[in-house]
Amino acid sequence: MNDSRVLVIGAGVSGLTCAYRLQQAGIDALVLEASDRVGGRTRTVRSPDGVLLEGGGQWFGPGQTAVLQLIDELGLETTPTYTHGRTVFRLRGRTSTSRVGVPFEWPLVTLDLSIAITRLQMLAARVNRERPWTSARAAGLDRTTFDEWLTEHTRTVAARHIFDAVSALTLGGDPRDLSLLGVLQHIRSAGGLLRLIGVRGGAQDRRLITGAQSISTSLADRMPGRVLLETPAKQIEWDANTATVRAAGHEFRASAVVVAMCPIDRGHIDMVPELPPIERDRIALSAQYSGIKVHAVYPTPFWRARGFNGQAVSDVGPAPVVFDNSPADDRVGVLSAFVAGTVSDHPASPTIEQIQDPDVRRVGVLECFAELFGDEARHPTYFTEVDWRAEPYIEGCIPSVAPGVLTATHGHSHGTGRLVWAGTEQSDVWNGYIDGAVRAGERAAAHARQLLH
Ligand SMILES: Cc1cc2nc3c(=O)[nH]c(=O)nc-3n(C[C@H](O)[C@H](O)[C@H](O)COP(=O)(O)OP(=O)(O)OC[C@H]3O[C@@H](n4cnc5c(N)ncnc54)[C@H](O)[C@@H]3O)c2cc1C
Repeated sequence: MNDSRVLVIGAGVSGLTCAYRLQQAGIDALVLEASDRVGGRTRTVRSPDGVLLEGGGQWFGPGQTAVLQLIDELGLETTPTYTHGRTVFRLRGRTSTSRVGVPFEWPLVTLDLSIAITRLQMLAARVNRERPWTSARAAGLDRTTFDEWLTEHTRTVAARHIFDAVSALTLGGDPRDLSLLGVLQHIRSAGGLLRLIGVRGGAQDRRLITGAQSISTSLADRMPGRVLLETPAKQIEWDANTATVRAAGHEFRASAVVVAMCPIDRGHIDMVPELPPIERDRIALSAQYSGIKVHAVYPTPFWRARGFNGQAVSDVGPAPVVFDNSPADDRVGVLSAFVAGTVSDHPASPTIEQIQDPDVRRVGVLECFAELFGDEARHPTYFTEVDWRAEPYIEGCIPSVAPGVLTATHGHSHGTGRLVWAGTEQSDVWNGYIDGAVRAGERAAAHARQLLH
């Protein structure tokens, strides 16, 4: 039996931030991590030539004060996302470019987008950030799918495609699967839709030079011997005073246990006694949206010389949104995209074949890059992908809130008894983001300290 004052389960950004804040307060905390690495949904991989490629969460932006402060504290450096030049829009068989990230050449689409974004922002501003189910007309908003709202409030197919892409990339998946109230809460938690989707000045403003996973490796380095890898927690037995965690053939006992992961992953741990019904419902009704992050490496960022910034929105092929992910020193060029794990029957969506078969996917992605930026894109020196659907201990990339869930479960709680919940899904601010993970970790550390008194 190993005794610590606080056990933290999960060495993603949230769990490690929690443990680090406890250590700084002089409290012994031990972190148990199921996989053979720290970082969870932040995962930085290397090409054979040593180029860092972000397989998971990667961007940060203004307003994400918790993570930016932590980055500063850890002495890590950020670099701005490359934005010089034109964004390419390839929609409904036509191609247009824009310097400001808006398809101005298509005035109707731009107008359609502006009106719908303004409406969504106004609706979101009226939602209670901490308790969205108490907002005016909450039940109706929660019953409505985002798809129903978009169908009613967008007029052009191109604008609708852009919303579908944004929905998959940042709002939690296919609009048909999402509660309008959940989408509004998401927008509210980030301080506005333009902030969510924006590059310069928005959530995609900058990246870490050493890769997003370096937040977690830096935190773990500051807690030598206190992070145990390949130690999946199987069971937590708890009473009014202590909790015992069974993991990898060992027993760990503590006064408080912080479970730092998304609710579905929490549901894979056997709780004795079982959690109260409302907590079980919160786990059973939660969902995560998953997908594949793909990267193509080129000898140079050749698109820049042609006046492109490497960003694109396209309704053909498996890469609906493309980004320039080249390293800060520009020694090679990197184009990246997020290929969604589920597809809708929207005519603009990729086919099932394009998504599922790795070879078809690779050809489809490179074809897409070539159509957007030129033939050179067909011949990368390296191509790789991180498939989040294959992660054994992580259910998916970002939270996906289904209709009716918020009003049925009243969002999330901060824990029960000796158990404290962390993970980005517990944050009211930048929920689903690395910043939310830091905030939830810090709040959980404060909560665990209270349990020790
Ligand atoms: C492809 C992708 C792109 C993204 N893009 C961005 C972005 O650009 N910007 C942004 O801010 N966010 C982004 N995100 C989201 C961001 O990465 C996450 O919000 C954040 O990393 C979540 O951190 P966490 O600590 O809350 O959870 P996680 O990172 O999921 O950590 C949970 C940890 O718990 C471990 N675990 C699970 N079960 C057990 C168990 N039984 N025992 C022990 N350990 C267990 C897991 O292995 C994992 O390490 C993206 C995510 C993905 C996947």
